[in-house]
Amino acid sequence: MDLNSLTVESTRAAIAAKQITASNLVKQFYDKIKAEDPEIHAYLTLCQDRALKQAKRIDDLVGKGAPLPPLAGVPIGTKDVMVTKGVRTTAGSKILENFVPPYDCTAVMRLEAAGAIVLGKLNCDEFAMGSSNENSAYGPVRNPRDKSRVPGGSSGGSAAAVAAGTAVATLGSDTGGSIRQPASFCGVVGLMATYGRVSRYGLIAFASSLDHIGPLTKTVKDAAILLGVIAGRDPLDSTSADVPVPDYAADLAKPVSGLKIGVPKEYFGEGLDAEVRAAVENGISKLRSAGCDIVPISLPHTAYAIPTYYVIATAEASANLARFDGVRYGYRAKGSRTLSDMYRKSRDQAFGAEVKRRIMLGTYALSSGYYDAYYLKAQRVRTLLTRDFEQAFQKVDAIVTPTAPTPAFKLGEKSDDPLSMYLADIYTVTADLAGVPGISVPCGRTASGLPIGLQVLGKHFDEGTILRVGNAVFSEIPSASEGSLP
Ligand code: GLN
Repeated sequence: MDLNSLTVESTRAAIAAKQITASNLVKQFYDKIKAEDPEIHAYLTLCQDRALKQAKRIDDLVGKGAPLPPLAGVPIGTKDVMVTKGVRTTAGSKILENFVPPYDCTAVMRLEAAGAIVLGKLNCDEFAMGSSNENSAYGPVRNPRDKSRVPGGSSGGSAAAVAAGTAVATLGSDTGGSIRQPASFCGVVGLMATYGRVSRYGLIAFASSLDHIGPLTKTVKDAAILLGVIAGRDPLDSTSADVPVPDYAADLAKPVSGLKIGVPKEYFGEGLDAEVRAAVENGISKLRSAGCDIVPISLPHTAYAIPTYYVIATAEASANLARFDGVRYGYRAKGSRTLSDMYRKSRDQAFGAEVKRRIMLGTYALSSGYYDAYYLKAQRVRTLLTRDFEQAFQKVDAIVTPTAPTPAFKLGEKSDDPLSMYLADIYTVTADLAGVPGISVPCGRTASGLPIGLQVLGKHFDEGTILRVGNAVFSEIPSASEGSLP
């Protein structure tokens, strides 16, 4: 079986047609992971026992001729910020090096209930803070398309595993672009639904008002299928929305002709790589040929998105990360004489530099005397950014932009310059701040073969439209181990 070309759809079909058993498929994936992943380093923890148990459940269903669930036998991985019962979950941090959670994340549980098989936990920037995966306490991930380059972040392992074909699909999380930007860098599809569409229960919190869980896949259809499974109200997450979940995969067949597509001028200015611009413009031409009406628009407050994001995200992170104190979870420093000494040493020894930087920034922004000047001001700008979208969506059905200003950069290229790293998310953070859905689809490549992503943003709870528009520009990039680079 050619594991590289498997999609969610084709895997389930092969299992249903008895071309392969789920148990055999899982073993083949583990062989591939053991052979190829050491170079990529997408996986942090494998969970063979759990995977083989689930595979057996599927094989029993097939054996009995029972109806098969929608993801029967599909091997997946999840970013290591989603807790998994009995399976180590680190969030890419030393502070959780030995943390084995007592419960499962809702999104992971829903995928398993639908028949998917979790192979393991995927590398990421520590607590999802980063854009290159270089902030992982366990070492970086390499981009399967060019191993001297980063896979993007923070869901770098999730994107790399799909691109390398060591998982059919994965889950990632997006707080400021962490699903879409690595999808763009690795040449896969990354989908962030509307805030509230997918339960966050069991997602280790970075910035709760911005965090989203979503799929990374080889095709838009696969993303539609997975979203259909993980979406929907969860009583365990009070921010999850009670909004009916449409049949996204079926809706993909609807034509895009007649849709109004906005192209915001603020996303095509200074700093945009020429090859990225050309590929995205080519994608826009495809939409025009498919009968879409292309409308120039403005999202006037875009320039304030990055500073707004880095005040709000760090403020929420400083509160969320207070729970890691060496008492209840994970790492505890040895040799402390007092309780506060133990807190201080544990956090000092086990948090990485970027996480400490964020906690300090966030604590400062929330401190009395500065709260109004920073945090409150940022919340007001967030409202203006949301209003920009509301006004644009009165005129258009979806918005098309580049996902990231550049293709994947070299390992080490930006690691000493946090500000230039933060700018890698310039086109993605606004959607998180406004809570609107976004998808990144591969739309072309640079002359040297690096993937380029095109982003489609949509109205609240209208993932169906961005999936359709994304599908119309999608140009699949074959799995990296098929030798896709010249
Ligand atoms: N790169 C951004 C950050 O470092 C976004 C991360 C994310 O979406 N989790 O905060």
